[in-house]
Amino acid sequence: MSSNFNLDDSIRKIEDFPHKGILYYDITSILTNPEAFSWCIDQMVEYYKDKKIDAVAAVESRGFIFSAPFAKAMQIPLILVRKAGKLPGVTLKKSYQLEYGKAEVEIHQSDVPQGKNVLLVDDLLATGGTMGAAVELLTMGGANVKHIFGIIGLPFLKYADKLPGIEIKTLIEYE
Ligand code: AMP
Repeated sequence: MSSNFNLDDSIRKIEDFPHKGILYYDITSILTNPEAFSWCIDQMVEYYKDKKIDAVAAVESRGFIFSAPFAKAMQIPLILVRKAGKLPGVTLKKSYQLEYGKAEVEIHQSDVPQGKNVLLVDDLLATGGTMGAAVELLTMGGANVKHIFGIIGLPFLKYADKLPGIEIKTLIEYE
């Protein structure tokens, strides 16, 4: 599939959601467009297929959507980073700041593959707070996180500053 597909056309933009002054980039309009969704997954597989990724971890909830078909295509384990209070087993927990608000994420301790290279996935990277917390959880659990993927990047919110030493790939960036 072509690498110059126009993904921007498939991303709905909503002003002042969920708060005044936030421009919200909605990926549900990618999901209702099979060509756009397939293109995203194909790009992920193409980019990471030779990067020695042992497992993929994703942040609730939109990260799950893109990481599941990726894990299936790559035949690697998928680890869920969930909002606090949802996982039944023994967990590691971390709270963090969002672009708007505060949150807490959790991971099953026994799901973390020891000493393995884990790719972290979310739909959108903004301040990097969510990914930073997920990196800490996975690192605490004994994995290595050298790669992060987001469909959308908002570099003006400086996500890279919170993720030093990690290679970050996005499919589209907005200023
Ligand atoms: P951050 O932790 O600041 O990098 O924020 C990333 C998380 O918040 C992701 O899970 C996004 O889905 C969500 N998010 C933050 N800002 C936006 C935005 N402008 N549009 C859509 N989602 C956003």
